[in-house]
Amino acid sequence: MSDESQSFLFVHRAVRGAWARCDALMHDVLQRHPYPAALQALLGDLMIACAMLSAHLKDGSTLTLQLRGSGPLHLAMAECSAAGHIRVYADYDADRLHPQLSFMELLAPAQMALTLEHEGQSYQGIVALHEQGLALSLEDYFLQSEQLPSCLLLAHRADRYAGLLLQQMPAADRDQADEDFRYARLLAQTCRDDELLELDSSSLLQRLYHEDDITLAPPQTLSFHCRCSRQRSLSALLSLGAADLSHLLMERHGRIEVDCELCRQRYHFSSLDLSEHLQAPDSLQ
Ligand SMILES: [Zn+2]
Repeated sequence: MSDESQSFLFVHRAVRGAWARCDALMHDVLQRHPYPAALQALLGDLMIACAMLSAHLKDGSTLTLQLRGSGPLHLAMAECSAAGHIRVYADYDADRLHPQLSFMELLAPAQMALTLEHEGQSYQGIVALHEQGLALSLEDYFLQSEQLPSCLLLAHRADRYAGLLLQQMPAADRDQADEDFRYARLLAQTCRDDELLELDSSSLLQRLYHEDDITLAPPQTLSFHCRCSRQRSLSALLSLGAADLSHLLMERHGRIEVDCELCRQRYHFSSLDLSEHLQAPDSLQ
C-alpha cells in the first residue's frame, strides 16, 4: 500500500518521465467529500496526472489542473505541490449526474487549464479538452503549449489509481530526440492496465525498458493536504470591511463559521476573536 510519485530519466535518450500510484489518497478525498460514483474515476485520474506532472517541480512550486465545462460537472480540480501535498475538488450538478456519462458528456464543451505557481508568480496555459479523455487532453496540451511530445497512461481499479508519463526533452539533435521519444512511447503502449496497477516503479520500468539505463529519483510520498488555514479564513473575513463584518456577526449571533470548500475544514470565529479588528478599522488591510 502506498501513495507515491517518482520521476525518472533515460540516461542515453532525450526522454524523462514520472510514475505515480495511490492506494489510500482517493479514500482520504472521499472521506472529506463523498463525491458521487460518476465522478470518482475522473477525479482519481486527475489526481494521478497532477501528481506525475508535479514530480519534476522545483521546491516551493505547485501545479493545478482544472477542467471547466458546461455539462453536469462544472469544475474538476487537482493540485499537487513539489512536496507531494495534494487536494482535489469538484463542483457539479448532482441531479444531472449518472454513472453512464462519458468524459465529454460530463464536461462538454470544456477547457483544461494548467497553472504553475512558483515564488509568487503564476503561469497558466489553457487548451480545449480532447473528446477521448484526460490523458489525450494533456498530451495535446504539452504539444500545443510547450512543443513537448508526451505520453500519458492512466489506470484505476477500486481505490487504486496509477499512471505513467513520458515527455520528450529539448535536445540539440531534434531528429534523435524525436526518435528517442517514439521508441519510449511505443514500448509504453505495450503496458497493460494490470501491470500499471500492480508493479512498483522499478519493476514496471524494467518490464518496459530492460535494455535502457534509467535513473530513478527518490520516491515522493503523496498526501492530502489543504492550503487553507485559520489565518487565511480570518483574512477573507476581514476583507469584508469592519461595517459588514459587524453586521454579519450580529446576524449570526456573535459566531461566524467559515468552511473551506476544498477540504471541508470549518473555522469558527467568535465576537471575541474578531473584536480587535472591529475596533481598529485601520488594521483591516
Ligand atoms: Zn481546506
